[in-house]
Amino acid sequence: MAAPDIVIVGGGLIGLLTAAELVDRGARVTILEKDDLGFEQSGRSVAAVNLPGGSSQGDPRSMLRVSADEWASFKERWDCDIQLNSEGWHIVIADEHDAEWVSVDRATWRETAGYADSETLDVAAARAKFPQLQGPFEALDVRPGGHVDAISVIAGLRAVAERRDIDVRCDTLATGFEFQGTLVTAVKTDHGHVPCGSVVVAAGLWSPNLCDLLNFHIPMQRVRAPAAETEPLPPNTIPGFLRASTFGARQNRDGSIRITGGYRYSAMLHDVSFHDLRDLRIWAPAIWKNRKDVSFRVDKHVLADEVGNSWRRWRTGRNGSTFAPRGYDPSSSPRDRQTQLSHLGNLIPAIRGARIRRAFAGVMDLIPDLQPVLGLIPGWENAYIAGGFSGHGYMYGPGACKAIAGLIADGDAVIDITPYRPERLSEKLSMRDQIF
Ligand SMILES: Cc1cc2nc3c(=O)[nH]c(=O)nc-3n(C[C@H](O)[C@H](O)[C@H](O)COP(=O)(O)OP(=O)(O)OC[C@H]3O[C@@H](n4cnc5c(N)ncnc54)[C@H](O)[C@@H]3O)c2cc1C
Repeated sequence: MAAPDIVIVGGGLIGLLTAAELVDRGARVTILEKDDLGFEQSGRSVAAVNLPGGSSQGDPRSMLRVSADEWASFKERWDCDIQLNSEGWHIVIADEHDAEWVSVDRATWRETAGYADSETLDVAAARAKFPQLQGPFEALDVRPGGHVDAISVIAGLRAVAERRDIDVRCDTLATGFEFQGTLVTAVKTDHGHVPCGSVVVAAGLWSPNLCDLLNFHIPMQRVRAPAAETEPLPPNTIPGFLRASTFGARQNRDGSIRITGGYRYSAMLHDVSFHDLRDLRIWAPAIWKNRKDVSFRVDKHVLADEVGNSWRRWRTGRNGSTFAPRGYDPSSSPRDRQTQLSHLGNLIPAIRGARIRRAFAGVMDLIPDLQPVLGLIPGWENAYIAGGFSGHGYMYGPGACKAIAGLIADGDAVIDITPYRPERLSEKLSMRDQIF
């Protein structure tokens, strides 16, 4: 078989959609995935997305805006049903601390994404529009958006890959690269090497491991986001995507409610590893500032992998190999999720008494400025990174994949990706006020 033009490491949303965009531009693409498609972040996501609407003054070519347009037309473009819900984002403001957080959040979106349209409703207006919200709150921030179903998105993109002859290799761990000067000529895997014209690292949590071999350091924190799903409830129990300080929630098409962390008490766990110690200087101020909301634990599996990686790297240098855990499936405490569910039940009484049918967790790849890392990896002519989506991969994904594909195939990202350029990671990064 002829060598593919482009090898993508990672079969999550970003790898799959970048592959589809590249094939649309005439490229031949191979995807290497160590588990199954969507097994890590992309299949566990709440998948809340922004959608076009409102009277945004933002740049129409901003990545978030392009992504919003792409989600709105995704079904037609890629011929797959992604269970798009377009009932809006509803952010509950319960007290002055929440109000303060929401204003920081708005400023962040405006600055980083050029797309932050929202309207604040008082309690009477909010209840008139959403009678489900009977519990106490002070205001509701409403934005154009909604959610898609992560499993349907991955299933749809798997079908796109089949229809468009994308060579998808699951159970294939990328372990390193072969080089010629500043060109990557092949990706090494546990099933032999795969020659390539270009490579895209879209390996989510494990992109830093591979990028280390390309002498490019990504100061990423891996943060666990616990989640749960209830038994099905009647339709329209939750309008669109609902976020409050202690929970985020959406209703799936089968009626079940998916619940995760809120915006002030994110319930996130920082799985501490040696990797974090290396970047402690960068992260320490934000961790200290948010110390009440942050909890730490040591993840033995990740720690063991890191020790193995360091040993291999020490012995073999950049021509060596790296490793990423297979079947990485971190846990989530059902008791903690029940507490979040009871907070949600205080706001929407119809949810009281709902039973959790499944508790699980996903791990997010946070970058200090909470912005993705996109573009050519410094020092290389044909190696690209598309990662570090910092819990926003569904919101930014379609625009990001379009940009990377355009950059590789036509030398033009079309969207302005300067804010996401990899080089910024070696400059002084502006840490966001929210740690997430
Ligand atoms: C609980 C939760 C809720 C979320 N909610 C939202 C939300 O509401 N809105 C939003 O926009 N975003 C949300 N996110 C974030 C979003 O899901 C991610 O940003 C997005 O899925 C990232 O996609 P990805 O393809 O970059 O990474 P991933 O989906 O993690 O894919 C990377 C893939 O690479 C594979 N891989 C890694 N290393 C190797 C290797 N060496 N060889 C071969 N394969 C490898 C992995 O197995 C994995 O399948 C959420 C995430 C979680 C966990």
